[in-house]
Amino acid sequence: MTETGQAQARPRPDAPRIIPRAEHNISRADISKNALKVLYRLRKAGYQAYLVGGGVRDLLLGREPKDFDVATDARPEEVRALFRNCRLIGRRFRLAHVHFGPEIIEVATFRAIPRLAGEVEGAEPAEGRGAAPEGEILIDEEGRIVRDNVYGTIEEDAWRRDFTVNALYYNIADFSVLDYVGGMEDLRAGLVRLIGDPEQRYREDPVRMLRAVRFAAKLGFRIDPATAAPIRRLGHLLEDIPPARLFEEVLKLFLGGAAVATFELLRHYDLFRYLFPATDAVLADEEDGFPHTFVLKALANTDARIAEGKPVTPAFLYAVLLWGPVRRRARERVEAKGAGEVEALHRAASEAMAEQIRHTALPKRFRAPMREIWTLQPRFEARRGRRPLRLRVHPRYRAAYDFMLLRAEAGEVEAETAEWWHRFEAASEDERERMLAEAGGRRAGGRRRRRRRPAPAGGDAAP
Ligand code: ATP
Ligand code: MG
Repeated sequence: MTETGQAQARPRPDAPRIIPRAEHNISRADISKNALKVLYRLRKAGYQAYLVGGGVRDLLLGREPKDFDVATDARPEEVRALFRNCRLIGRRFRLAHVHFGPEIIEVATFRAIPRLAGEVEGAEPAEGRGAAPEGEILIDEEGRIVRDNVYGTIEEDAWRRDFTVNALYYNIADFSVLDYVGGMEDLRAGLVRLIGDPEQRYREDPVRMLRAVRFAAKLGFRIDPATAAPIRRLGHLLEDIPPARLFEEVLKLFLGGAAVATFELLRHYDLFRYLFPATDAVLADEEDGFPHTFVLKALANTDARIAEGKPVTPAFLYAVLLWGPVRRRARERVEAKGAGEVEALHRAASEAMAEQIRHTALPKRFRAPMREIWTLQPRFEARRGRRPLRLRVHPRYRAAYDFMLLRAEAGEVEAETAEWWHRFEAASEDERERMLAEAGGRRAGGRRRRRRRPAPAGGDAAP
């Protein structure tokens, strides 16, 4: 048996490497009860049942898996027949979702490798996908898989997976791990390695480039040189991925707990610009260093929040990632057209958002909160009268406040402003009244003392 981990495009006739229970660390105690239920019931009904993918990988690494995926030789309809709480989903891949309250166990039938379909003459282009008959693999002119519902053996299933470390199978029949592709070795070496020919695999599904980066960042792995080599050259293939799918990927990339490392790697492989082109442009010709510092501080903060189990939202993430372009657009509008800062900021927000969602979608429910995080920023600089109190009760105040602190950390807001708000937050009612009086007079209706010209939109022109 070869153990080189040298992936080839086609399944080898080799038997898998079998790692018996005594030789690996996966314990049923660490597997979700619901996943075990699914595995046992499939097995009892006479089907093969394996845990596969990220769950096995993470358990072998001693990490807590995010979710548990199951692979089986039962057809989706057969899976549905076994579980009351089961729904079939997906068009490109037909999958069974078994629901246990908030937990979903994804059950996938072994799939044949797309390679077989590459030999199907005249596969229909993407437009034809609705007309595809059941149980056929369709590959479009660029070599992308648009439909993949041909069932196969476990061995084929292993070979059509993306990375070797994602293609390990934990067998519920005897608790062994099956390795067809050299995944165990790569796991030990800390390598993200595509199965098969890297360029072909990226052409089939360009999102695999993002996944390579994501796993490397999250696991602290290196990307194998042959797997890394085509990425810069093929990054542009991401332009054809539907924005909705890229949105899902962006969340996995940046809300998975390793946003800083992910961001650095995405920039390194020049993939970031296919996700956030306007942001990438600002970072490329930044003059003051703020944008880069700001994004890094904000992403570090996101990672810290996730590590502490605090909530994170796509609205805040997008507000962070698009702040550079918003500031730039607002500043240009003020400088070139003499627009007022508030109006400039609102316009800039709309433009930046409209531009972005052509690349990575942002569902509507996140757009208003994101925009408010931005448009509330100038209000932290305007502390006259009772304005700070009004700002504090705004539904988006907390997020905007956190955002302002990050801007201050990056040197984009005066430290004095951030300190004032920090004190204001911690203060009692009485102390707040005193701070308001000091900040510019108690009587909001009275004549206002001009403190200092508030900074223009984005506050980047602070003295
Ligand atoms: P995570 O920890 O993020 O859940 P994961 O490896 O489980 O990581 P999923 O997106 O949940 O990733 O996918 C489950 C498994 O399905 C993967 O481990 C891999 O084997 C396979 N897979 C997912 N996406 C692809 C893809 N684009 N191409 C080939 N195989 C894929
Ligand atoms: Mg998973």
